[in-house]
Amino acid sequence: MSNLVEENLSTIRQQMKIACQASGRDPQEVQLLLATKTVPLEKLQMAMQAGEVLFGENKAQELRDKFPLMEQYNKVEWHFIGHLQTNKVKDVVKYVTLIHSVDRLKLGQVLHQQLLKENRTMDILVQVNTSYEESKFGIAPEAAVELVEQLSQLETLNIKGLMTIGKLGATNEETRGCFRLLKSIQSQIKQKNIPRVEMDVLSMGMSGDFMVAIEEGATIIRVGTKVFGERYLPDSYYWNENVHLK
Ligand SMILES: *Cc1c(COP(=O)(O)O)cnc(C)c1O
Repeated sequence: MSNLVEENLSTIRQQMKIACQASGRDPQEVQLLLATKTVPLEKLQMAMQAGEVLFGENKAQELRDKFPLMEQYNKVEWHFIGHLQTNKVKDVVKYVTLIHSVDRLKLGQVLHQQLLKENRTMDILVQVNTSYEESKFGIAPEAAVELVEQLSQLETLNIKGLMTIGKLGATNEETRGCFRLLKSIQSQIKQKNIPRVEMDVLSMGMSGDFMVAIEEGATIIRVGTKVFGERYLPDSYYWNENVHLK
């Protein structure tokens, strides 16, 4: 049985291969995460049936709704990719194996307290605002190394790498600049050999720029629109606390 989601996925898988070949990378190094905000369950199931196993949500509420419906497919894994409010931490850690969006010490501390209570650990990425856009979350690039050092003291958090959202609506070269900046922060942190900090994961690249991201070293790309089609909510709803829908 063929459907649009399946076709889109096979196009993306092909493009991922092309980008890997172009940059001399092993396709095995790059994971495809499907960004599922606002996507109805039927489409998620099509993606699963096409063999996809990694999904990302932006909001605790949507995660809570979708998780039980997908749980029957035991191979499925969820990551949290959205802005995480401290009052949602308890909800989110229940469902996910990696949080991409830790961008402030306070959030790290709240996560740590919750994980201590549950006697467990959590893998995280530090989100960096490489485009310097006000409407995006993420720590400023200049402050990223220090934040990683501070978070590394919280022993329930396993820092696995970095995440960024490239500049949107920009030229390929501008976007490439964001990804290179993330990669250079990764190298700086690696050189410091901070105890307990691993820096192998780079989560970068979305529908419009994932090939560039792969060329620049992405190990997880996060794709929504190109698989599932346009969303009915603007991204500002997810990315900017100051924007409210009327
Ligand atoms: C929505 C979203 C994506 C996917 O964006 P598309 O342009 O639809 O591929 C990736 N990362 C984050 C953090 C998102 O919120």
